[in-house]
Amino acid sequence: MKPFLLVLSAPSGGGKTTIAKMLLQGREDLGYSVSATTRPKRPDERNGVDYHFISHNEFLQRREKGEFLEWATYGGELYGTLKSEIEQIFSQGRHAVLDVEIDGARQIRRNFPNSLLLFVLPPSAEALVQRLMGRQTEDPALVRDRILRAADELGAVDEYDYAILNEDLVVAVAQVAAILEAESWRVARQDTMPEFIGQLKHDVVKAAEKIGRQSPVHSRQSPDKHRNAGS
Ligand code: ADP
Ligand code: 5GP
Repeated sequence: MKPFLLVLSAPSGGGKTTIAKMLLQGREDLGYSVSATTRPKRPDERNGVDYHFISHNEFLQRREKGEFLEWATYGGELYGTLKSEIEQIFSQGRHAVLDVEIDGARQIRRNFPNSLLLFVLPPSAEALVQRLMGRQTEDPALVRDRILRAADELGAVDEYDYAILNEDLVVAVAQVAAILEAESWRVARQDTMPEFIGQLKHDVVKAAEKIGRQSPVHSRQSPDKHRNAGS
């Protein structure tokens, strides 16, 4: 099957990173695209695993060289998907899972129309605030900025292919997996389909010809005879 980009977006704290990480566990068909960012590393994050943490200058230089598939500014920091990440994932025949905000998702939609865009919704404003505060990764002022941005981000949901509610994490991950499963059967996503259909058509015609040669056409029972048979 043709590998494609699975884009996950959500307001900060919506749960997209958690869902992406859970989804990838034990799945050989998916690869996580590690983004580059200029924002400071959080204590629990690992360079090269969660993000490629780079300086502002390096980001600008690499952007100039055309190394990014898409990029955006969020909370005054730069974030971007490296083309090299996607090339590596695709070369392994895997679909790439991207955790990207809405501007980046729009760029991906424009440039890669066969991408799958999925929006993760929090069940309520309270849950979103609680999760974001509970994560304890941002100062209260930054948490406020992120929640304010959430209102804008929610306005973009109708640009996505799917929206799922992240109330119960296990259910949400199962829903994403179900969407992926269904999408993988789309005719346009099955690159071996034209070849298979071509062969099948050829074989069907041959099979029909063979039947035509083998069995002479027998006269059918008249409808009246058939109707009387059970009486
Ligand atoms: P995002 O990547 O969208 O900013 P995270 O994946 O970091 O969000 O999730 C934010 C916080 O909410 C994390 O502490 C995570 O463990 C928690 N979380 C995510 N989904 C759920 C859920 N369904 N129920 C309870 N807590 C959740
Ligand atoms: P965080 O700082 O919480 O890790 O991420 C902040 C926002 O940046 C989130 O909405 C996240 O989806 C987004 N983001 C992360 N990586 C990328 C990326 O490569 N490109 C874009 N456009 N957004 C990203």
